[in-house]
Amino acid sequence: MDTIFALASAVGRSGVSVIRVSGPDVGEVCGLVLRGSRPEPRLASVRQVLDTDGGILDEALVLRFEAPHSFTGEHVLELHVHGSVAIVNAVLRRLGEVPNCRLAEPGEFTRRALVNGKMDLTQVEGLSDLIEAQTEAQRKLAQQIASGGLSTVIDGLRTDLIHAAALLEASIDFADEDVPEDVTPEVSRLLSASLERMEKLVSGQKYAERVREGFEVAIVGLPNVGKSSLLNAFAGREAAITSNFAGTTRDIIEVQMDVDGIPVTFLDTAGLRDASDPVEQIGVLRGKTRAEDADLRLFLLEADESLPIEKRDEDIVIRSKSDLRPDEAGGVSSVTGAGVTELLDRIGAILGERVAKSGLASRDRHTAALNSASVNVEEAIRLAGLGQDHYDISAEEIRSALRLLDEVVGRVDVENVLDVIFASFCLGK
Ligand code: GDP
Ligand code: ZN
Repeated sequence: MDTIFALASAVGRSGVSVIRVSGPDVGEVCGLVLRGSRPEPRLASVRQVLDTDGGILDEALVLRFEAPHSFTGEHVLELHVHGSVAIVNAVLRRLGEVPNCRLAEPGEFTRRALVNGKMDLTQVEGLSDLIEAQTEAQRKLAQQIASGGLSTVIDGLRTDLIHAAALLEASIDFADEDVPEDVTPEVSRLLSASLERMEKLVSGQKYAERVREGFEVAIVGLPNVGKSSLLNAFAGREAAITSNFAGTTRDIIEVQMDVDGIPVTFLDTAGLRDASDPVEQIGVLRGKTRAEDADLRLFLLEADESLPIEKRDEDIVIRSKSDLRPDEAGGVSSVTGAGVTELLDRIGAILGERVAKSGLASRDRHTAALNSASVNVEEAIRLAGLGQDHYDISAEEIRSALRLLDEVVGRVDVENVLDVIFASFCLGK
């Protein structure tokens, strides 16, 4: 097993940069690269980091962890060096000269943590999301998953399914003797309760996925109603071009924002009017499609024009340029800023209800496995209801469901999933 190292903190200049080393040869690394005695495990100490010729590369705060009590489960050394590009490069170069030491691949530390049983697959996914999190809603969801929230729910399901299978199998073994009691009611109770929990996980996934990827809110309206200006007012910066001429926004402009902790991508669609120019028609059509697919539409109207696409229940309809009609209540003005905060609050409240519905299953991978497992469990309930001579095939359905749940947490071989997950990891994690 190689010993791996990488910069764990962000690339570029900073106060402190953290270089992480993990593997069997951490002891050798300490001996070769650090002046003085080997750092005590889990105690911060200051050491000179030495070059091959004995020259001092930097003075670093060092932390040593002994296997298995570390993030990866291996021996680990953390070097907290001064955060300059030159120091980091020099220390990484020096580490590369130590025998059996090499630069880590993206996600390799976490991969080792997984292999060594320090975390399961859902926690790895949660950690990946945690590192990517940009808003509070994303942080909260990722934190719950990273700390084992989904694993706990899956474990609870496993326990009940194993119990149900055990009851059925015990009855099969007693088939020739007097069966003490009919297990069917207890088995169906356990299975139905499990099924309900699995369905709940599945139904919350689409919201969790929105939290991870961001909600899309399309600003819809005719050219010149003030869409781009409103987006600018939202963002508080020049995110889209405003102009007096219709049709400036040719394509779709996307602006990502944090609305009350919720990740939102605002779409400034091309003005949805009847265009005669074929090129413009394409843009309008694209805008319509994107707006229809968005999570929420914000219809901006200047007068009493009709809506260019269908309005759905929670979609917002609001009058723009309210500063031009001072005697009229409501509306929004990008010029005076009147109503802008209220409008953002309204969007935050609508999306916040959806965030609240998000479950801990947050990926397609989870729901695919849970949906298949649900089919197995439904079938198991049906078969168990047919009586004792169907108990063996009912138990077999439960075993299939269990294998699928094991896939979710990575208890069974999941090499193909690993590559996908770790490909998205940044270096040093
Ligand atoms: P879009 O085509 O819907 O994106 O509209 P723009 O944001 O480009 O705005 C079209 C014109 O309306 C520009 O001249 C803006 O300055 C003007 N405008 C936008 N919002 C307001 C507003 O709230 N009040 C006033 N008085 N003018 C606005
Ligand atoms: Zn515009």
